[in-house]
Amino acid sequence: MGLPGKGLVEGLKVTAKTLARRSVTEQYPDVQPELPPRSRGVIALMEENCTSCMLCARECPSWCIYIDSHTETAPSVGEQARERSRNVLDRFAIDFSLCMYCGICIEACPFDALFWSPEFEYAETDIRNLTHEKDRLRDWMWTVPAPQPIDPGPASEASEASEASEASEDEA
Ligand code: SF4
Ligand code: SF4
Repeated sequence: MGLPGKGLVEGLKVTAKTLARRSVTEQYPDVQPELPPRSRGVIALMEENCTSCMLCARECPSWCIYIDSHTETAPSVGEQARERSRNVLDRFAIDFSLCMYCGICIEACPFDALFWSPEFEYAETDIRNLTHEKDRLRDWMWTVPAPQPIDPGPASEASEASEASEASEDEA
């Protein structure tokens, strides 16, 4: 058995230590938090770039991307040419009540149609409103930060290239 009141003293020690520390609590929503520009807030869709290829929907581990599309046929250009077909996006929606913000869809998209926006203020009282349809996803594009400038510094030599030059020096 421990000394009576030992737990209380230990608890007070923790309280005293915490009192001496600087508070890091942010007074949100009265004060907006200073988030890094690349924060994962919401996913934006550049509709013009989307080819309805379904890769993002197939890779999504939460199955929360819904895509509908149809194929349109355009007339052939020359006499010998075949008719051309293209996919037209009818629906693109993300259910943010299921999304776990893993970013796999953005990585998987081969056409740069999905982007992270740091915007996070889209809480809803009705869960159904957390499914954002393509017009709303398109609007989030206005909040996507511009890409970072390319690093002007000289790029370091690729390891394969330096290994190859070392090997050729050894042979010489
Ligand atoms: S971030 Fe992850 S969970 Fe959310 S829609 Fe993209 S792939 Fe699905
Ligand atoms: S967002 Fe990208 S991966 Fe998803 S359907 Fe459109 S083009 Fe394909």
